[in-house]
Amino acid sequence: MLLDQVLERLDKKKERIIEIRRYLHEHPELSFQEEKTAEYIRNFYTDVPVDHIETNVGGQRGIVVTINGAKPGKTIAIRADFDALPIKEETGQPFASKNDGVMHACGHDGHTAYMLVLAETLAEFKDQLKGTIRVIHQPAEEMPPGGAIAMIKAGVLEGVDAILGIHVMAQMETGKVYYRSGNTQTGRSYFKLVLQGKGGHGSSPHLANDAIVAASSFVMNLQTIVSRRINPFDVASVTIGNLDGKGTFNVIKDSVTIEGDVRAMSDETREIVEREVRAFTEGLERSFHVTCDLDYKNDYPVLYNDPEVTERVRQSLEHAQITEVEAVLETPPQPPSEDFAYYLKQVPGCFFYVGASPETGEAYPHHHPKFNIDEKSLIISAKSMAAAVLSYCGGSGNE
Ligand code: MN
Repeated sequence: MLLDQVLERLDKKKERIIEIRRYLHEHPELSFQEEKTAEYIRNFYTDVPVDHIETNVGGQRGIVVTINGAKPGKTIAIRADFDALPIKEETGQPFASKNDGVMHACGHDGHTAYMLVLAETLAEFKDQLKGTIRVIHQPAEEMPPGGAIAMIKAGVLEGVDAILGIHVMAQMETGKVYYRSGNTQTGRSYFKLVLQGKGGHGSSPHLANDAIVAASSFVMNLQTIVSRRINPFDVASVTIGNLDGKGTFNVIKDSVTIEGDVRAMSDETREIVEREVRAFTEGLERSFHVTCDLDYKNDYPVLYNDPEVTERVRQSLEHAQITEVEAVLETPPQPPSEDFAYYLKQVPGCFFYVGASPETGEAYPHHHPKFNIDEKSLIISAKSMAAAVLSYCGGSGNE
């Protein structure tokens, strides 16, 4: 079986995946600034027998690699992101970030490391492969608008039948792989509201239009969106993370700026929240005689895993009998938003999760200065993705 050969070859390279991950971990770069990381990825492929490499995809630092199997089959895209975060690392690891204030605190170093070695391995077997594999190395997942949109506009999904991606998860148990069908990760929106009232003296409120009172009313009204407007069986959250109300105790403030974050598990719910935020904004103008400037942006959509592709992934993982994988389990929905969701709006696919909780010590959340993963999750990611790709590309013939 081809899969067994591929898994065996990957097994011999598991230390190498860790080496690459540690190198990338030491040299993290922020979203849209991943110059050296892109160069590293490009150089990795120098002697790898892939069929095509495109750099600077989408006018960013994206890299797309094509591997043409010798036999006909489907075209599958597999994606790994490679940007880091503006966080000062506090893990104390020997391979901690050498780029002060920047850290791979979401595991994208691991995604890229396993993907490079997997791509190399698949290329080595291309005489036996069915179909076409398009490897997408994507920059800028962490910062809206995200790197995915430009890659899609550049045509990376043209001719693609399905797309797969993995996220290593520090708070899921190492040795387990998780999947979910349908709406899986939240969609996200951001808004900024500037309220302009009329300043005045505390002794004469009737001559002013108090922006703080209007803003307070807005914040309290927002609490009724989730409790009164969203179906109790749906999910949403609305958070005001910034309200700039600082002033002087006896001066009526003329202007307040509010910034908020919205998460929802369906596009319909997201639309309801936006509609209500807009309605409350209009209400403020009429009730408090302020003028409002609302900037409302929808960024990453709800991440929707295609049920058929997800079932296929699940089956391929079950059949592959990967030594390091103890169980393949369904996961509840995941709260973060993820720009892989944009690809899934265009083509069916599945974004699934590889448990990566550290062997010892605490499993810190993603984006934490002490975030860390169990590196065993990297060989598991490579093998799991290999199983899913071979199954999808070649139909049962590869199994
Ligand atoms: Mn991430």
